[in-house]
Parts: sequence; structure tokens; C-alpha cells
Amino acid sequence: MANLPIYEVEGKILDALRGGGRLILSAPTGSGKSTQVPQMLLKHGFLDKGDVVVLQPRRLAARMLAARVAEELGVELGREVGYQVRFESAVSAATKIRFVTEGILLRRMIDDPSLPGVAAIVFDEFHERHLYGDVTLARALDARPDLKLIVMSATLDVERLETYLAPCVTVRSEGRTFPVAVEHHASDAPVWDQAADVFARWDGEGDVLIFMPGGYEISRTMEAIRSRGAKGFDVLPLHGDLSPRDQDAAVAKTGRRKVVVATNVAETSITIDGVRLVIDSGLARVARYDPQRGINTLLIEKISRASAEQRAGRAGRTAPGTCARLWPSGETRQACELPEVKRLDLAEVVLALKDAGVADVRTFRWLEAPTETALADAERLLEALGALKGGAITALGRRMLKFPLHPRWARMLLAGPARPAALLAALTQGRDLLLRGCDRETEAFRERILADKETSDFWRLVKAYAWAEKQDFKLDACRRAGIHAVTARQVGPLFRQILRIAEKEGLDIQREGSEEELRKSVLTAFPDRVARRLDEGTLRCELVGGRRGNLAKESVARHAPLIVAAEVREVEGKELNTILSLATAVEPAWLKELFPEAISTRVSTTYDSGARKVVAAEELCFRDLALESKALERPPAEEAARLLAVEVVAGRLKLDGWDHGVEQWIERVNLIAKRAPELGIAEIDEGGRRALMEQLCAGASSYKEIKSRSVMAAVKSWLDAAGQGLIEKHAPERLTMSNGKTPKVTYAPEGPYVALKIQDLFGVSKIPAIALGKVTPLVHILAPSQRPVQITRDLEGFWRDHYPGIKKELQRKYPRHEWR
Ligand code: ADP
Ligand code: MG
Repeated sequence: MANLPIYEVEGKILDALRGGGRLILSAPTGSGKSTQVPQMLLKHGFLDKGDVVVLQPRRLAARMLAARVAEELGVELGREVGYQVRFESAVSAATKIRFVTEGILLRRMIDDPSLPGVAAIVFDEFHERHLYGDVTLARALDARPDLKLIVMSATLDVERLETYLAPCVTVRSEGRTFPVAVEHHASDAPVWDQAADVFARWDGEGDVLIFMPGGYEISRTMEAIRSRGAKGFDVLPLHGDLSPRDQDAAVAKTGRRKVVVATNVAETSITIDGVRLVIDSGLARVARYDPQRGINTLLIEKISRASAEQRAGRAGRTAPGTCARLWPSGETRQACELPEVKRLDLAEVVLALKDAGVADVRTFRWLEAPTETALADAERLLEALGALKGGAITALGRRMLKFPLHPRWARMLLAGPARPAALLAALTQGRDLLLRGCDRETEAFRERILADKETSDFWRLVKAYAWAEKQDFKLDACRRAGIHAVTARQVGPLFRQILRIAEKEGLDIQREGSEEELRKSVLTAFPDRVARRLDEGTLRCELVGGRRGNLAKESVARHAPLIVAAEVREVEGKELNTILSLATAVEPAWLKELFPEAISTRVSTTYDSGARKVVAAEELCFRDLALESKALERPPAEEAARLLAVEVVAGRLKLDGWDHGVEQWIERVNLIAKRAPELGIAEIDEGGRRALMEQLCAGASSYKEIKSRSVMAAVKSWLDAAGQGLIEKHAPERLTMSNGKTPKVTYAPEGPYVALKIQDLFGVSKIPAIALGKVTPLVHILAPSQRPVQITRDLEGFWRDHYPGIKKELQRKYPRHEWR
């Protein structure tokens, strides 16, 4: 092993550890980071007082690396070298090198943040930026000054880390690599057929590594290769769901040529020597928040350019190689994958941090902080589930953390009869058990075997699983019934694992409970997904949180007025539609029983535009969702007046008394308010109009009652008697001219004016000003035809300059009128 590239930098590694004790080690895959660095620690006395914990993102890698290191040291696995993963472990009191997966170390830190007995932590594969890696590193920085921290990465981009870990030393090793020729192949055939075709045509030396997203695609690829002839190669799968023996077979040296069909575990975690051809589907199963199910899940996605580079590199470890990419060369792909902290639901990790004593997750020492929305969503959900109260973890929250499940499902397990609840949890962790888009025949067959009580769609999943189990999960039989066989096969082991933990937590795992109890426990997991049907004729629903949606057509719970939906998905159509599925019928009484603090009564008052009146009902609400509603005889007076006033001001209800005179009065008041503010008159603006109308509508709740109410009196009452007197005086209804005429003033928004025939203006040289002399109304001077000949304020100028000219013409046209 001493010839591995990592030994070229061994001296630097040891110096860094003896110095500050913080090290970033960046070296290409296959350099010897994972297997050799722990051994260096052991050999050079760093583990005399404690052990080294090597954090691995994948269970498969943790076990295989432990086995490899044990073998190199010539010891039995589980003695000096061991591993601990979510549901399995091989360690003993003698263990010095311990490969563990994410959750394990964080849990240990929660039990004792100073990590007694741990001398060093190695964060392996850190470039993948798993959420728990980020969080554990943050916690480790505060653990103990003498704790050695080594962060290892297969990429060289470590700038952010250097600042974060400062003071620390960075050691780089360029490793040894050979050139890899990249080709692109693209067709519409399934990826497994494409991969098998590339392999069939290939006649180079060495072994072959094929990347597929998951177990299902891997088995299809192996079938496709075998059906074309394996050319004497061993065809071997490598993924997390295989037995340890099968996993070991994929990396073992046998002297025979092999094709290894692997998930992205072979991208950087596990090295397979001798590979000269890489065939890359370009796909991976990526952990991502699934908003539809409200939990984190694995979705098949296109890999980033950085990942594709890594995969290609696997062909050039021992000699020049080739990488065949099964996508067009022009296809755009993102540069690198987002770190998990930016794409996962944070409920579980926030709860774990709270448990670890982190009071404020916003000021937590994040390597890269999550968005405020993501944190707020997580906290809101945890409060709703009862795991947090006022931001602090509850006893229930602590118990929920014992289950390696999303807090929703942990909550359900703790609420319900353990046995069936564990089965529901197991049924929903993987991919959809029921295939979508089946043909009619399959659909009909499936409906026959799945028909059950119409209280929950979960019962269909339970039946589908039982049926698949009876068929021994045979692919053909399952496909005929529209059931995903691979998913079904994974349910059983998961179910038993969950039961084991439940038992350890003191739950009675034999208890079947009643169907009603189980439905209640589902309700505890999705209090934010309660929905009430709006009517019987449609599938429309109103959800908690003021959202609207439609219950899925195929839901068996479509006869229930109140449901809880375990899945909510948004479908882009003509408009955004929210579809609720995996629904369970629930009773209002259960909400009162389970969430008493979320129950309230409120009076809801609305304007009924059809009946043109305000109606009110007393509603019993779960959060903001009305469960029951009782009509009230008489709506609350103030609210009724307010709603009616809104309709009147908007012009949707016309009052008999709201005439020109009223509008003029308001204009007059506003003119004085604006132009003669020293008179102390307040303007009647939009708000004022509404206030006036509310006054007018006082005591009424219908249009009928207000239609013929006197508006003028109400509007005038805006001012007291003295104020009204000021308006009459300073914004008078009529002007008095020097010739005794009293034309009516029109108060327009642009200003007041009077309209007069020329004859009525004879003898007048000045228009009297109003509003304390500050506003002179305009005069519309009219010809005998009533057509204006001029609009002006300057009468003197009119008589002098214009009148002589127009007089002649008008005199001719209207000889019988008086012309002076
Ligand atoms: P790194 O972590 O830098 O990617 P590893 O320490 O995992 O490197 O592997 C270093 C070398 O050890 C690999 O190139 C491979 O030759 C060998 N190796 C590691 N694990 C195994 C194994 N399980 N079987 C055979 N060889 C292995
Ligand atoms: Mg490694």
C-alpha cells in the first residue's frame, strides 16, 4: 500500500496534525485517502488515547472501507477496525478506527458534545456536501481543542473550507491520472439498452464501469448486457441494497475481466481498479425535498458537470481510458450539485440541532447557511407536530429523533398503534408503490385486488404490498397489477427495521390497534394538510393555510367531508392546480381531541352580493380552516356597516340620496380644506367617504335598509353647524355678481366655475373671488346658442380685447338679442 500517492504527502499530513490539528486533504479518487489516512493516525500514535471516527456519506462505503482496512492490517473486522451504520454495526471495545454514517456521529455528539473517547474525526467525501456532514463539522469545531479534524475531498476546490476551518493546513496531492477520451452517444432507447450497446461494440482492454441511477436500472442493464452476450466478462452489480458478499464481489480481484454496474457510490467513494471504459448514464438518485410528500426523498436527476468529470476520471486510473456519455454533447448541465443544505427539508436536522442545545438555528455556525424560508418552514412544521414549543425541543421531539425517519413519520409512529403505523411509514419511504399511467386492463385488475374500506388511500398501499408479497415480488406478476416490484420488495426489511427501533423505544410492536386509531395517527403527522370538501358535487377542497385544491379523482376517501392528505402536489395547467392525494378520512372531533390549542371559534361576516346583504356565521375552526358553521340571526353591527359602506363607496350599491348635490357638497368641503386651510375644515378623502358611509349604514345589514336613507344629512354631519356655515359662506352655492345676477357655481375637481350668457354679464367687470378671496371661479361665457365663446377669469380683458370682434358676428347671427 505504501506506493499509493497519498504517501508522497504523508510527512505534511503528520506535521499538520501535530501542529494545529486541523487539516484539509484534497486528493483525487484512488489516492488512498479513505483507507490510508486512518492507518497513518494509528501508526503514528494519534489513537493512543481515543479512536478515529471516519464519517462516510454512504453505508455501503463505510462497510467496505472498514473491511478493506481490517484486511490490510490483518485484523478481524469489528475488532480494531469496525463500522456503524443506521441499522447495523460491527464494533467492539478494541475498535480504534470506526467508519460511520452521518446520523451516528451527530447522535453521539448530542449525547455528549465534548466527544469523550474520540481522538480524531475524518470527514470523508466532503465535496459531496451532505447536510449531516456540514452540521457535524460545525459542531466538531466547538467540541474540544485537542480533537484532530481532517476534512477530505476528491476535488481541489476547498477555498470556502479554508476560511471556515482557519487556522488549518491544506495538503494537496495531484495523484496520478491518465488521459480519458470522452465520447457522447445519445438515442431514445432506455439507458440500459444504450449502455449495453456501447459495451457490445467496445473491443478495448481492461474492465468496464457503468453508472446507473439505482438498483432497478442496474438490473435492467445487466439483463440487457447478458441478452447481447457478455463476451466472457463477469457482470456485477454494486449498490447499497445488495448483500455484503455481492458488494465485495464487485471490487474483488479475480483475474477475470468484469463489467461493474454501479450507482454513484463508484464515483468517488469506492475505487474499482483496472477500469478502462466508463459508460455514464448521466443520471443519479439525488436526495431532495419532495414538496408533494413534504419529506426528503431520492429523485432521479441529471448529474452535474463536476460529477460527470469524476465519473470519466474512473477510466484513467491505471492507463489511458475512454468514457462514453449517454447524452448529447451539446446538452447543458449545471456546473455542480447544490449542497444538501440548500435542497433538503431541514425539519429533521433542525430538531437534531435543538436537541444538541443549539437555541438559535439562525446564528448557528453554518458552513453555508440555509435560506430563511427553509428554516422557518422547518420550525413551523416542528411546532405543528409538537416537537418544538416556542422554539424549544419538547419531550415528544426528543423521542421523535430516535427514529431515523422524517419527523412526520416519527410523529405518526409515536401516536399510533405501532405495528400498522410502522408499515405505513415503510410503505411511503421509497418510490411510489403503485405505478402511474397503467393501461386500462392493468388498472381494472389492480382495482379488483386493492378494493377496500373507503376511509384511506393508505389501505390500498397495504393491500398492494400484501399482494406483491404473496407473489414473492415477482417482476411480471407485479407489473401486471401495476405494482412496483422493487419498491415492494424493499418495504419488508424497512418495516422490520422500524419495528426494531420502535421496540427499543418501548412501543408495543404487537399492537394492531383499530382502523380509527391508525387514521388518527396519520392525522398527527400532517396537521398542515387537513382539508375540508367545499361541496359534494365536486372534488374541491379548502386546506389549512387558506389554500384551495382538488382531491385526486382516484382517492377512495372521496366521500368524506374532511380529509388529511399525505401528498399535495401542484400541477401546472391553465392555472396552478393543487391535487391532494394519499388521503385519509378524518373526523372534526379528532382535531379537537388531538390539537385542542389549534381549535377556536370565530364569527365570519361576509357581504352576499346575490342577496345584497351582509350575512354572518359562527365558525368552529381548526387553525384557519372552518370545520363547522352556524348562521347568525343578526351580523355584528359594526362589521355589517363597514361591509355595506365598502360596497357603496365602490359604486356597487347605489343610494337614492347620493346625488349631484352630495357630490357638490363634498367638492365644496374639499376646496375649502385645500385652498383655505386656515378655516380648519378637514378634507373628505377616500377614507373619509368610507367613514361617512359607515356612519350612514350604521345599524343596517342589507341594501334594502340603506337604499333610501338621507345621504345629504349624513354627509353634512361630517362638519358641525359652524363648519357648515363656513362652507356656505366661503364655497357658496351661488355667486352674487355686481349686476345682481346669481349664477350657480359648479364645483369641479379642477376648480369651480360659473356659466353665463354674454347678456347676463353686461356691466360686470370682475368675478367675485371665494375661499377667503383665494379662488376666482372661471366663467364660461356663452353665446345665445349656449356654446361657450370663451372661458376666462379676466372679464376686463374680455370686454376690451375680444368682445368688440365677436360682437359684430353675433349681432348679425342673433339680431333680436340685446348687444351693448
Ligand atoms: P481514496 O479514498 O483516495 O479514493 P482509497 O483509500 O479508497 O482512495 O483507495 C486507495 C486504493 O486502495 C485504491 O486505488 C484501490 O487500489 C485500493 N482499494 C481500496 N479499497 C479496496 C478494496 N475493497 N478492494 C481492493 N482494493 C481496494
Ligand atoms: Mg475515498
